[in-house]
Amino acid sequence: MSSKIAVFPGSFDPITIGHESVIRRALPLFDELVIAIGINSTKNYFFPIEKRKEWIAKTFAGEKKVRIETYEGLTIDFCKKIKANYILRGLRTSADFEFERGIAQMNRAMASETETVFILSLPEYSAISSTIIRDIIRNKGNASAFVPRGVDLK
Ligand code: ADP
Repeated sequence: MSSKIAVFPGSFDPITIGHESVIRRALPLFDELVIAIGINSTKNYFFPIEKRKEWIAKTFAGEKKVRIETYEGLTIDFCKKIKANYILRGLRTSADFEFERGIAQMNRAMASETETVFILSLPEYSAISSTIIRDIIRNKGNASAFVPRGVDLK
């Protein structure tokens, strides 16, 4: 049987305890989980790619099933390239659901061999987003409670 490889795509700008939780809960389902940092040249990121990658690596240090990659272009093309048959996404709210449904259905239409798997956020993490964390930091607040242990946002 071929191994089950999942891609968890995102910007991780920065990684949050919400991302971490979804990834940890998904690990038993897959043989390998590739955290894929999407790079879109038209998008301005808050944290440099090296920092975002370093924080993810620190969070999952010693986790044998986790691999970190960066990619440009369509997520399904990246999945094909690394032979991943699953895309993992987290759902916080009905807004996430509506957004994710469109992407997953379009991805499925383009690549029927790739299945999107959703994990519902734990209730205590459903308000946590990288966007709000960036806003806290921009305004000189302390966001350390919302990012994985060991992530030093400075
Ligand atoms: P994007 O740039 O695609 O919005 P993010 O890095 O914000 O990517 O998020 C990647 C994935 O993690 C998405 O599926 C998103 O719904 C999910 N996610 C983000 N925050 C949380 C959270 N607090 N709980 C559960 N899932 C989350």
